[in-house]
Amino acid sequence: MPASPIEYFVMIVSVVFGSVVGSFLNVCIFRIPTGKSIVLPGSHCVTCQQPIRFYDNIPIISFFILRGRCRHCNTTISPVYPAVEFLTALMSLMLFLRYGLSLQYLLTFVFTCALIIITFIDLEHQIIPDVITLPGIPIFFLSAILIMNVRLLDSLLGIVLGGGCFYLIAFGYKLLRKTEGMGGGDIKLMAMMGAFLGWQSLWFILLFSSILGAIVGISVILYQGKDMKYAVPFGPFLSIAAVAYLFMGEHVTRLLFLR
Ligand SMILES: [Zn+2]
Repeated sequence: MPASPIEYFVMIVSVVFGSVVGSFLNVCIFRIPTGKSIVLPGSHCVTCQQPIRFYDNIPIISFFILRGRCRHCNTTISPVYPAVEFLTALMSLMLFLRYGLSLQYLLTFVFTCALIIITFIDLEHQIIPDVITLPGIPIFFLSAILIMNVRLLDSLLGIVLGGGCFYLIAFGYKLLRKTEGMGGGDIKLMAMMGAFLGWQSLWFILLFSSILGAIVGISVILYQGKDMKYAVPFGPFLSIAAVAYLFMGEHVTRLLFLR
């Protein structure tokens, strides 16, 4: 069914909104690991400290106008910036198309934003910041039961099982290898996902992320000859799996259990 002009307009608004939020996620991604404030100072070049003017700070577009370089000192700007803005804009549009203009859209978008921050920090620093996951557990627990129609018990079980099964994997790994394989960050992230999506999502997330992680991990080992636990952080795979669950979890569950 073709969309009306108003629907197209709202879709464009959701893309612009997503890219602007993505620009803020960049601030979080680059400042949270350093312990700096995410509010002050305003955007500035990390090399020459010059403030970035509003016309050089347009999400996605400015990066290409400036050809990926600072206007003042010509230092290259990380392509992570436009990538995060593009990804956030895309997620905003896809969630809008799935949920319409609703509280569900807003909440799943906030959840996805948290996962985008976690993914890019984990890729760069191999840590999953507690400042996102620890407040995330109660916030997403409340929003799940109040707005996403997740049952109280399903969400509570999601927290316990999500944290618990990862704790067991980490414990088993430690016994076998006598080293820490899975970080405590993954445990808290899984608990946060269980809180928001309910315990029924966990098997999907574990299976999907393990398959994805194995494919990428084996490729990295083949190309670089590295030990996988150093090469590939697991947070990004869990995040991709959780987003996949938002879009197709219900269908896959129905298909597998013939409900
Ligand atoms: Zn500069």
